Amino acid sequence: MSNIKRIGVLTSGGDAPGMNAAVRAVARTAAYYNISCLGIRRGYNGLINGDIIDLDARSVNGIISRGGTMLYTARCPEFMTEDGLKKAASTCKYLGINGIVCIGGDGTFRGARDLASMGIPTIGVPATIDNDISSTQYSIGFDTACNTALDAVDKLRDTMQSHERCSVVEVMGRHAGHLALYVGIACGATAVLVPEQEMNFEEDIIEKIRMGRINKRSHFIIIVAEGVGNAIEVSRRIQEETGIDSRVTILGHIQRGGSPTARDRVMASRMGAYAVETLLAGKSNRVVCNVNSEITDFDITEALNMHKDINQQMYNISKMMAV
Ligand code: ADP
Repeated sequence: MSNIKRIGVLTSGGDAPGMNAAVRAVARTAAYYNISCLGIRRGYNGLINGDIIDLDARSVNGIISRGGTMLYTARCPEFMTEDGLKKAASTCKYLGINGIVCIGGDGTFRGARDLASMGIPTIGVPATIDNDISSTQYSIGFDTACNTALDAVDKLRDTMQSHERCSVVEVMGRHAGHLALYVGIACGATAVLVPEQEMNFEEDIIEKIRMGRINKRSHFIIIVAEGVGNAIEVSRRIQEETGIDSRVTILGHIQRGGSPTARDRVMASRMGAYAVETLLAGKSNRVVCNVNSEITDFDITEALNMHKDINQQMYNISKMMAV
């Protein structure tokens, strides 16, 4: 068996619903294997400042259903300096932390890789509503964010239908269009604009709206990924070129909140438990991934070099459904 006696867990970067469920899974798995678990607060800041709490099995009671993260999350520029990294590693050595589970996105994994290079075993767990981590097909928080956005778009549809308007909805996703595409298909959008696909504005939007009107469509929903740029400009052009009253809604941070869905809770539980078992197996500098319904792990550097594209089949379907 391994010589690991104490591990730490932190959440870092942008928050995502299900981070709490992942923290709980780490703490409970540690308790199951009789090792102690510490919660490191405010991302890598907690390691630099010694902002640390005990996490026994009971201290994570009731958090599986809560959005946000009980450990708080933050960005930590100091950790990216040699001095900051040294301070973080010395805190781990001082407290006898033999492994850390780092829950977050690619930035968080770069931090985990640097910490591993200082001799502190680390395992990354993917959590971001953008689902833009290349090594994994699924990131904790994506499903909840999709459902939150979908709920909002369904409500917008009611009012757009009454007034026979066009609704241009910007969803999150940073430089990736996964969230936009998923929501676009689920809400029956007329068009989905994602940064990965070039779009012909006239053909793919204006012409579709014109045809839709001829076919007695009363209202239109256009989903724009934030990485595309300007939803306001998209709406302005639609109104100008079609004469339809068009309104913009930028969903923003509401997509990061809310009670995680069953899928996110289960994925967080599986990934959190897997991360602790990976540490106990003596591994370091790995990231937990979901590949073809299985949970597996990759070397962090390899994972960071992987490339993930938009699902082309889904993109085609989004277009086919909007005839
Ligand atoms: P995310 O994990 O959601 O991608 P960020 O990119 O903001 O979020 O990264 C979160 C934190 O991870 C940063 O504030 C920093 O502490 C650490 N980090 C990010 N990039 C690096 C890097 N290149 N080297 C070391 N640490 C990094």
